Amino acid sequence: SFYLKDADPEIYSYIEEEEDRQEHNIELIASENFVAEAVMEAMGTALTNKYAEGYPGKRYYGGCEIVDKVETLAIERMKTLFGAEHANVQPHSGSQANMAVYMAMLQPGDKILGMNLSHGGHLTHGSPVNFSGKLYNFISYGVSKDTETIDYDALREQAIAEKPRMIVAGASAYSRVIDFEKMADICKEVGAYFMVDMAHIAGLIATGAHPSPVPYADFVTTTTHKTLRGPRGGAILCKAQYAKDIDKTVFPGMQGGPLEHVIAAKAVCFKLAMEDSFREYIDLLVRNSKSLADAMMKRGFRIVSGGTDNHLILVDLTNKEITGKECEKLLDTIGITTNKNTIPFETKSPFITSGVRMGTAAVTTRGFQPEDMDKIAEFIDYAVNHRDDDLSEVKQNVRDLCAKYPLYKK
Ligand code: PLP
Repeated sequence: SFYLKDADPEIYSYIEEEEDRQEHNIELIASENFVAEAVMEAMGTALTNKYAEGYPGKRYYGGCEIVDKVETLAIERMKTLFGAEHANVQPHSGSQANMAVYMAMLQPGDKILGMNLSHGGHLTHGSPVNFSGKLYNFISYGVSKDTETIDYDALREQAIAEKPRMIVAGASAYSRVIDFEKMADICKEVGAYFMVDMAHIAGLIATGAHPSPVPYADFVTTTTHKTLRGPRGGAILCKAQYAKDIDKTVFPGMQGGPLEHVIAAKAVCFKLAMEDSFREYIDLLVRNSKSLADAMMKRGFRIVSGGTDNHLILVDLTNKEITGKECEKLLDTIGITTNKNTIPFETKSPFITSGVRMGTAAVTTRGFQPEDMDKIAEFIDYAVNHRDDDLSEVKQNVRDLCAKYPLYKK
């Protein structure tokens, strides 16, 4: 048989198990989402069979006239969605999008100013275990101790003193608005390139729920699978003057053949992100995030920076006498999926941590409403306070809440 169920029953059953897990658990991982059926459908198509090294109209293989149309549509839609001069939709992931920008504009050893990892920066913003930290001389800026928001004055002073070749904005665990205009001014003042990694907030930027970096940044990188709700992958936007450098760094510099089935799914995602229903989704996602922050604070949880402007909150568990690692594991037992996360001025290791990160992108896609955020906070609070007791009742409550909002129709 051609079909998975018969051809490979083992993998088929694992996929079923994973579908089941997604259906019956409350997904609060801030970087995850549930794609539309149309996005999923585009990924599982014959486009996966096609080699298309190069770019539309300039390929190294024959038979590319149709995938050229697909990729051109993805590029044009992404440019329209974000108001950008140039788009490259080929990076296989967010990390590769970042790698391409660094490789296109910098030399190994060059100095880059990026956000401190324990203050919210991503692995590819200079972690010593990542290519970024190994190849480039990363130094980091962070948040101020009192407000736990980016200290732009300190950042400016640091930029003047260090004279980096590039400043990277954007984060994986920062819940407040980032002032891209202010950071662009600092870059101009010190003669640095300005790159914004908007991976987490791309969906909010698409609808205007967060100010856009596109007018201010030389380069904007993103993943397509977080708040933008597309397939797992990356993309780069840049000013027209850098288009050639970026394109030739992605291919042939860093990757071989593009994943045209994923690029088709990116095109579908960009189309859906231009519709009114996506704006409504993002509005609800932000309201849900604020409701979740309020509901947690009401129960004595400390939220880093005192709240949120976007899709995520960072919970400091210190006063609850539970580590991030223990909390993640505890919530797993009741069917709530989160991840441990370092907090600014962290005192524990990244494997233990004092915090958990929670986001509303995935639950909002299912249709969860602000009043459901109060229930989620109640489940979490109950589990944390009764961590040594039988939690089967609250686990059932989690399952019942999920059942109210079915995920994929079978
Ligand atoms: N940039 C930021 C800010 C991220 O949060 C992430 C992923 O979490 C990435 C880049 C990397 O994306 P990927 O996992 O697709 O490599």
